[in-house]
Amino acid sequence: MDDMYGKGLLKGLSITFKHFMNTYLEDIRWLARGKRRYYTLEGIESRKSSDATGIFTVQYPEERLPVPEEFRFIPFLIYEVNEDGEQQDRCTSCGICAKVCPPQCIWIERTSNPDTGRPVPEPAEFFIDVDICMNCGLCAEFCPFDAIKMDHDYEISVYNRQEKNIFNKERLSRPLSYYASIRPTNYAREEAARAEAEAAKAAKKAARMEKTD
Ligand code: SF4
Ligand code: SF4
Repeated sequence: MDDMYGKGLLKGLSITFKHFMNTYLEDIRWLARGKRRYYTLEGIESRKSSDATGIFTVQYPEERLPVPEEFRFIPFLIYEVNEDGEQQDRCTSCGICAKVCPPQCIWIERTSNPDTGRPVPEPAEFFIDVDICMNCGLCAEFCPFDAIKMDHDYEISVYNRQEKNIFNKERLSRPLSYYASIRPTNYAREEAARAEAEAAKAAKKAARMEKTD
């Protein structure tokens, strides 16, 4: 009956108007507290809460919802920088990730010694077809060298996917510090395990040397 007279419509509009007014009132309250309601993590968190009044949408693309640490999108390759400032790939081009990848969207070109023709444990090239990648994370899980990890960056749209969406080694490579910044817990756990393994190896070596002396 209400709808027959347009009362439902008016009720809906009044709710919209209330949200509209509350947005400005809430903005003023935040300003009075000397805080920023937009473009800050605190502001996004407050708008996500069930107590939010006024606007609760995220102002994308100026604002982005933070993603959880275990969020995964396209894989990336980790490189470290040595004492001479040279970039060193962690990847040894062992090919395990390419083997386990369910849709087979990874392919690797191995480096070989130009004099002997023997393989060198580093990739000359590394490609991932990101249109085929299904973000399963198996490559990262199976890599024995912690060389490939899942990225948080989900904004990879392009105008020409045929040309742009085969990511090469250069496009895929990121420094270790980037990995530490997006996955701090994983990074800390892996570094602790690495340090422990190295200490055990050093202790074993020392014990062997002691025996031979
Ligand atoms: S990323 Fe890891 S699993 Fe893949 S080839 Fe390199 S070292 Fe092997
Ligand atoms: S995330 Fe899954 S589909 Fe994508 S490259 Fe890794 S194994 Fe393949």
